[in-house]
Amino acid sequence: MREPEHPVVLPSDQDASGRTLGDEEIAFLTAAIQSGTLTSTKGEFVNTLQEQWAAKLGLPYAYACSSGTSAIHTAVAAIDPEPGDEIVTSPITDMGAITPILYQGAIPVFADVDPRTANVTAETLEPCLSERTKAIIVTHLFGNPCEMGPIMALAKRYDVPVIEDCAQAYLARCAGQLVGTFGDIGCFSLQQGKHITTGEGGLVVARDAALARRMRLFINKAWGYGDAEPDHYFLALNSRMNELQGAVAVAQLPKLDLSVGNRIAAATALTERLGELPGITLPYMRAGDVHVYWKYDVRVNAAIVPGGTVALAQQLKARGIASAPRYIQKPAFMCEVFQKQRTFGNSRYPFTLARPQALAYGRDRFPGAFGALDEILVLPWNERYTETHVAYLADSLRQAVAKLSESKVG
Ligand SMILES: *Cc1c(COP(=O)(O)O)cnc(C)c1O
Repeated sequence: MREPEHPVVLPSDQDASGRTLGDEEIAFLTAAIQSGTLTSTKGEFVNTLQEQWAAKLGLPYAYACSSGTSAIHTAVAAIDPEPGDEIVTSPITDMGAITPILYQGAIPVFADVDPRTANVTAETLEPCLSERTKAIIVTHLFGNPCEMGPIMALAKRYDVPVIEDCAQAYLARCAGQLVGTFGDIGCFSLQQGKHITTGEGGLVVARDAALARRMRLFINKAWGYGDAEPDHYFLALNSRMNELQGAVAVAQLPKLDLSVGNRIAAATALTERLGELPGITLPYMRAGDVHVYWKYDVRVNAAIVPGGTVALAQQLKARGIASAPRYIQKPAFMCEVFQKQRTFGNSRYPFTLARPQALAYGRDRFPGAFGALDEILVLPWNERYTETHVAYLADSLRQAVAKLSESKVG
């Protein structure tokens, strides 16, 4: 028998060890295949998913789509910006939350973030609003809710709709209220690494009937299914989820509460075990909020822990723990698509329509974002973590910090 390389192996969201996929998914998948109907335009699973997700959030409308990226795309298309209009968003998020803005001919305008959470706030968003702003997109990063009270008050003052990216924040709450129910549109992802998964997949939710109708149409090539005289009403793609994914999603949904609950319990246990660790700051949380721990992010002070996040990640890797310094390597606007404006052929469209201020990517404008990325170390998180895993993580982190700090004196 081969000895395991590490005393404790952490469950991974990339395979069965860290996922909740099981007999229920297989049963529904079998039913979907036996029915012979794999398109959601005729089948029942995706419809059921939509009804159940709307009910779970207490909203009238929910639609499934092919990814979290397509969920954001659907939301932006429903808002229907004019070419060159601006959508204010975060530079620390998944690129799938940003590129749909460009596809719809609009300009992403990046707001700085609160360095404690790496989330946008009303204070960082406000200086980015202009007469061309058509929407605000907020990402509840790592599962920690943005401060939605002040953000919604700001949006109301400027009469700008809000899209919430909840891909990492299923069932997170801000001041008691579920994220995804504050803004005009909420977006979710069912990609492999989220709280629940269908491999790829997405969901959008809304309260307003007209917005909801545009979203349903956009997912369906803007074909008016069910209308008396249907037509292709506007430019749109096919972003549908299929019944195989729908079947898995309907089986995953009842497991979401447990997934979220376990993640919170394990995170609370780690926070207790770590206590005060010199040079390490634990996840920042506002009282009254519910953080759902897509990841557990710590901040590393390189003045106290020599080598900072990179050295600490190396130490953890030697113990079989795959942490990620910086989360994303650089703020979104530092990527080539923005720096070189690579879009459609050589046109640089829609950047050609942008106000110069909308493309101000200078480092000095983003102290929060650059500062946060330098200090963030993302620990992998999972609903299958037990006391053993948490203890191993806490011990490993302690030992790694101690080892690096020793090297400073010696
Ligand atoms: C995962 C993710 C997305 C994109 O979802 P996909 O399903 O991978 O397209 C968008 N925004 C955030 C915050 C995400 O974490």
